[in-house]
Amino acid sequence: MTDLQIEEFSTTDENKAMVLLVDDQAMIGEAVRRGLAHETNIDFHFCADPHQAVAQAVRIRPTVILQDLVMPGLDGLTLVREYRNNPATQDIPIIVLSTKEDPLIKSAAFAAGANDYLVKLPDNIELVARIRYHSRSYLTLLQRDEAYRALRVSQQQLLDTNLVLQRLMNSDGLTGLSNRRHFDEYLELEWRRAMRDQAQLSLLMIDVDYFKTYNDNFGHLDGDEALRKVATAIKDSCSRPSDLPARYGGEEFALVLPSTSPGGARLIAEKLRQSVAGLKIPHISPAQGSVLTVSIGLSTVIPAVASNCRELISAADKGLYQAKNNGRNQVGVE
Ligand code: GH3
Ligand code: MG
Ligand code: MG
Repeated sequence: MTDLQIEEFSTTDENKAMVLLVDDQAMIGEAVRRGLAHETNIDFHFCADPHQAVAQAVRIRPTVILQDLVMPGLDGLTLVREYRNNPATQDIPIIVLSTKEDPLIKSAAFAAGANDYLVKLPDNIELVARIRYHSRSYLTLLQRDEAYRALRVSQQQLLDTNLVLQRLMNSDGLTGLSNRRHFDEYLELEWRRAMRDQAQLSLLMIDVDYFKTYNDNFGHLDGDEALRKVATAIKDSCSRPSDLPARYGGEEFALVLPSTSPGGARLIAEKLRQSVAGLKIPHISPAQGSVLTVSIGLSTVIPAVASNCRELISAADKGLYQAKNNGRNQVGVE
């Protein structure tokens, strides 16, 4: 069913029928017209030229086609197949009008895609009943398809909204990195995976040096801006989709590095430390003319069975403590 067809009929009264009769004999056209003239809600169109039939059906969009089988120049069954091959007419019910009750013609008509078969001219009561029956089932089909389409659209919207919500729920408002909640979830997940695979899991804890004096000296807004720059540097230091940068809290960040060796994690940590210093954000601590730096604690673990990921956090925290103690702006490994 095409969108055009659905729009066309979506607001249509399902008792309303539109008939297109395709027959080369004007006399038949007249007889059917007369038979339907006093029927309420049945519009009648007549097409005497079979070569115009498909185009006319596409234009007026009937709810039923009455199709003569024997016409000069064009076989009625060929026309039936043409309606079926045209997206605009493929589902319109077709009642074939034959001159005789012949099982061979009948089965050929149904094989070509006809929905019904009448020997002309049928009794008017039967003709009207069949027109109404086919028309109503066609309109019901259109309405059902439209309902499905609307359902699909709203399901997609719901999925999109959920994705946006999920992203909002997982991210930190100031920096756009993952927030603490998501970090906890992710680390737990990766910890269990590493435990199963007996793989190395590395964690970096990153803390901005002398940030209190930065805030005190430059103000909270500049402090926020500096945190955003550090966050970007952390994000840029990730190379794998499985690496997860997060804001752990305040001016402290974390970087989860699944399947990463101590050597690999050390390299990432050192490059990150250098890239933050390379931002050259002016600072007054530890001395006038300094730049903003970070200290990084690093730990790598192959999780033991039934262990807890808190082990990894506290080990990386110890590394961070050492880095601070040894003078800051460095990587401490635990
Ligand atoms: P250290 O080198 O030992 O890490 O010293 P520090 O001053 O960085 O550490 P401390 O924990 O004493 O201070 C952290 C400061 O970070 C205090 C707090 O005002 C600031 N801070 C925490 N979160 C935010 C934030 O979201 N925005 C801003 N501007 N400042 C923050
Ligand atoms: Mg700090
Ligand atoms: Mg701190």
